[in-house]
Amino acid sequence: MSRGSAESAPYGGLFWWRRDVRPGVTVAFTQAAAGNLAFHVGEDGEAVRRHRARLAAEAGVPSFQYMSQVHGCEAAWAGDDAAPTADALLSRGKPVAVMVADCVPLVLVGQFPDERPALAAVHAGRPGLAAGIVTEAVARLRDEGATELEAWLGPSICGRCYEVPEQMRDQVAEIVPGTGGTTSWGTPALDLPAGVRTQLEAGGVVVHRDAEACTYEDARFFSHRRAPGVGRIAGLVWAHG
Ligand SMILES: [Zn+2]
Repeated sequence: MSRGSAESAPYGGLFWWRRDVRPGVTVAFTQAAAGNLAFHVGEDGEAVRRHRARLAAEAGVPSFQYMSQVHGCEAAWAGDDAAPTADALLSRGKPVAVMVADCVPLVLVGQFPDERPALAAVHAGRPGLAAGIVTEAVARLRDEGATELEAWLGPSICGRCYEVPEQMRDQVAEIVPGTGGTTSWGTPALDLPAGVRTQLEAGGVVVHRDAEACTYEDARFFSHRRAPGVGRIAGLVWAHG
């Protein structure tokens, strides 16, 4: 669904959605106006560095840590490694980012026993979701004592637009309840955000929907299906103050 597609972005040029979700913790999702944020898309690495620096400045942080995303089920802790190979980046406050263009950008926010924030940026595409990256990220935070977990899903391709072969739809729907569906034009489809929400809620995580939008329908976002290779938006979370 293209919720909000007729509105101008209420959160400024770089951000589609930005909110202080708890004292000292901010969640944000960029729009295409923030520029392409991924080195693996397109060719202009200098532009990506410039976009990332501008985004960090706008957020008021030195930098965000990104991942080398591989549609897998590995979670890594934010640290010195510039871009760990992972699809969930866990943090105790350090700014972390996930890049997407149709996959679901998922941000988790909770609290550790020492009262530091428990944060994660998660890349929930079709293979990663089926492999269990969402439940893995939640489990890894809880292993360290995280409580009061809440989740924000950002812009992704919606269940009325993400057409897939019938066999793929059925395979994924069997593994991830809630994903099986039909496009608005009547062909087999997967609803990735519904699958993410189902897994989170089954795990006792409070899920917020107010940052969702359809990347395929809404040209303010990058969509791999609509325009392959053009760029990536980002889901972001950081602690401050
Ligand atoms: Zn859609």
